[in-house]
Amino acid sequence: MAKAKTPKYVYFFGGKKAEGKADMKSLLGGKGANLAEMVNIGLPVPAGFTITTEVCTYYYANKRKYPKELKDQVLKSLAKVEKEMGAKFGDKKNPLLVSVRSGARASMPGMMDTILNLGLNDTTVQALIEKTNNPRFAYDSYRRFVAMYGDVVLGLRPVDKHDADPFEEILDKKKEARGITKDTDLTADDLKELVAEFKAAIKEKLGVNFPENPMDQLWGAVGAVFSSWMNERAIVYRKLNNIPAEWGTAVNIQSMVFGNMGEDSGTGVAFTRDPASGENVFYGEYLFNAQGEDVVAGIRTPLPIAHLKKDDPKVYKELDDIRKKLEKHYKDMMDIEFTIQQGKLWMLQCRVGKRTGFAAIKMAVDMVRQKLITKEDALMRIEPNQLNQLLRPIFDLKEKQNAINEGRLLAKGLNAGPGAASGKVAFSAHDAELMAAKGDKVILVRIETSPEDIKGMNASDGILTARGGMTSHAALVARQMGKVCVAGCGTLNINYKAGEMRAEGTDHVIKEGDYISIDGTTGEVIKGELTTKPSEVIQVLITKEMDAKDSDVYKTYADLMKWADQTRTMNVRTNADQPDQSANAIAFGAEGIGLCRTEHMFFGEKRILNVREMILSDTEEGRRKTINKLLPYQRQDFEGIFRVMKGRPVTVRTLDPPLHEFLPHEESEIKETADALGVPVEKVKEKIESLHEFNPMLGFRGCRLGISFPEITEMQARAIFEAAVNVAKEGIKVKPEIMIPLVGHVNELKLQEEIVRRVAKEVFAEKGKKVSYLVGTMIELPRAAVTADQIAEVAEFFSFGTNDLTQTTFGLSRDDAGKFLPKYVEQDILPKDPFESLDQDGVGELVKMGTEKGRSTRKDLKVGICGEHGGEPDSVEFCHRVGMNYVSCSPFRVPIARLAAARAALRDKKVVKKTTKRKTATKSKKKK
Ligand code: ADP
Ligand code: MG
Ligand code: MG
Repeated sequence: MAKAKTPKYVYFFGGKKAEGKADMKSLLGGKGANLAEMVNIGLPVPAGFTITTEVCTYYYANKRKYPKELKDQVLKSLAKVEKEMGAKFGDKKNPLLVSVRSGARASMPGMMDTILNLGLNDTTVQALIEKTNNPRFAYDSYRRFVAMYGDVVLGLRPVDKHDADPFEEILDKKKEARGITKDTDLTADDLKELVAEFKAAIKEKLGVNFPENPMDQLWGAVGAVFSSWMNERAIVYRKLNNIPAEWGTAVNIQSMVFGNMGEDSGTGVAFTRDPASGENVFYGEYLFNAQGEDVVAGIRTPLPIAHLKKDDPKVYKELDDIRKKLEKHYKDMMDIEFTIQQGKLWMLQCRVGKRTGFAAIKMAVDMVRQKLITKEDALMRIEPNQLNQLLRPIFDLKEKQNAINEGRLLAKGLNAGPGAASGKVAFSAHDAELMAAKGDKVILVRIETSPEDIKGMNASDGILTARGGMTSHAALVARQMGKVCVAGCGTLNINYKAGEMRAEGTDHVIKEGDYISIDGTTGEVIKGELTTKPSEVIQVLITKEMDAKDSDVYKTYADLMKWADQTRTMNVRTNADQPDQSANAIAFGAEGIGLCRTEHMFFGEKRILNVREMILSDTEEGRRKTINKLLPYQRQDFEGIFRVMKGRPVTVRTLDPPLHEFLPHEESEIKETADALGVPVEKVKEKIESLHEFNPMLGFRGCRLGISFPEITEMQARAIFEAAVNVAKEGIKVKPEIMIPLVGHVNELKLQEEIVRRVAKEVFAEKGKKVSYLVGTMIELPRAAVTADQIAEVAEFFSFGTNDLTQTTFGLSRDDAGKFLPKYVEQDILPKDPFESLDQDGVGELVKMGTEKGRSTRKDLKVGICGEHGGEPDSVEFCHRVGMNYVSCSPFRVPIARLAAARAALRDKKVVKKTTKRKTATKSKKKK
């Protein structure tokens, strides 16, 4: 057998050239790939090497064992690092210390573990003292290492959320005994004692010795990093962020540099632009005489980066140059970690920075204006759902000012996640989850958050912390989740045990369950509930309280939407039943109504009684009489809509829900109805009984109603056409499209179509005016999709009703699915809730087939979608791929659908480019 090439499991970086580069993220993880890239573009990076994600995969596939080639490759790379750094791992005189860092393909901040200062033991610490002449520093590094290793590798950590950290406890005792409060006041001897006490605690509580041999330490740490891929918080994080478990993490082993070597040393994190607002300013924080963890953990409150300009102008300049170089190279906002060791700057990490949706949009639009990226790049860079954040509520300013004037301002913190939230206080993530499950709006209040809290953070409307900066865990995660967040409110004293929070300098005591309001745009924390107000975009577009020219936010939004509209080839319509909804949707860019549900019009005060009267009639004649009472109402509704839509297409669906939905259920209501209609209560009850269905979802509904009671379809068609002609006579264009629901067989459609066309003729003759219109159907049953060619011989358009199509394809009722469907997603049986995101392999295949078959018999068949999926980005992209003419969604999702449609068109173009090697893709024209 020929000898297979040994796989490469380890990649070196350092000096002038690295073995990896930025586009090797799947193999080296994001951190490893970017460390390599920074080396390659000439930035100062401490040398190290990356163990690939393939080793992680191997590790889990082989009972947590490594490939046999790994050890040798690690030793070889370690030797290179030693050479580069001029120190030797485990050496008695000149020991190399390393960090062992996790790093998956997608960044998962704080989810997995990192160990610093590895290689220290009782011998090497002496060498470090001699080398630096700084025993305090050496023992500080050592005690940190023992604590980290004890926690991460050996597993000595708090069991319960509210327990103190065992190492912190020992540390606090020490400080108490010395009568000091700051870590930095501990002496070298204190720290030395701590090392011994930490080790003793490990021995006592775990029954194992702390490993002295650096090589044992190294492999222990590597194993712990790989294992942390499967810890609970990492799993939860992956779920929330759709990161597949198969990706695995890489492990980076990197020479240590020290930010805690004295006052000319420090460490910091920064963003090349403001990640909350998107402003083009250098944004970050640093701490003097500290190690990396300290900034992120929020234990000491760091200084803003602008401060460094005064403190150390040389390093600041160097860092600012790196900031520019990185943005130019990566063409994006970057998130960096750096350490200054005795005046020398080292880069420890860079990655594309997480940002609020708000900032993402601003940065992308700004970068196009700066000519750093193209419009297409900008469109691809913004997740359509991020637009939600531009549309997010803000507080009513007057009300907020009044609250402040009344003395209800509890504190002011950092504006870490923009938006406004009001809700009940929860002091633990778990409580937040429980309260949210009950339907409460929750503000999670913590001294600081940690990765274990993410579920509770996700359940909350807002997050408030007493400690930590703009880059603390709470701030980072909140921004990513799009939550409102105020961080670092140092004047709030939070007492978990007592379940209360006191605001320094005030008499306010806030208990669990009390209302507070937080403003993540300005940082204020206010007692009590405040009304929220629409965002600037909404104020310009919908409420018209603001002028477009006064709002930068709006201008950014408008530019982006303009580019999206220039790019997309698919139309976007809205689902709206009323003139005001339709007007909003037009403001959001809707190009028509894809679904107007007529039944919503039946619920008006007078109307519902007429509907009930009709249902209670036993004869066709009786029904006709009563249903015609509804005619003027419906006509008026349609007139309103047609006027607002000004010639844009309006798809009106004939009556769809089962009739029993219109009947009263409560005893008192039944009596009222009976009295109002002058019939005995018994009769109403009988009717309710007779309309009872075992399975209403598959029962007497949709076109089945119009087939049994043609007079209903007649009345509705008449209302639509009379309205259309009336509005047309006002000089306003109209484009009605009548849509028959729940068709499974072409003959059902034929019957309904005949009625519609007959009534149209009658109305046009009566009124002496014609309007053009279409008759089409919903495709929401598998049989309809399968026989779409036959149906398209009658239907002039299809609209996929993917809510019902999902129900009928899966054979599950959405209203009953709540009991088991969430488990399907949890257990990965289904990747996503199919009612949220279209099941492309199953339901989608029917959509595709239906579209193709339909167009096989009617070439110009217009095809759209009107299920909830019409505003969900992935589903919208799918609709583009199957060649739909439009998607239709709720008004507030219209901007999202426009962007998603543009992105789909761009992805399409890319494919075209690749397969045909055309230099420029043909300019896309909007389909009509
Ligand atoms: P995370 O993925 O959670 O950000 P990191 O691997 O970046 O974890 O490490 C955590 C902290 O330790 C960071 O602040 C980082 O800058 C610091 N750090 C990691 N490696 C080194 C090193 N070799 N020298 C100095 N500091 C380091
Ligand atoms: Mg990091
Ligand atoms: Mg339906």
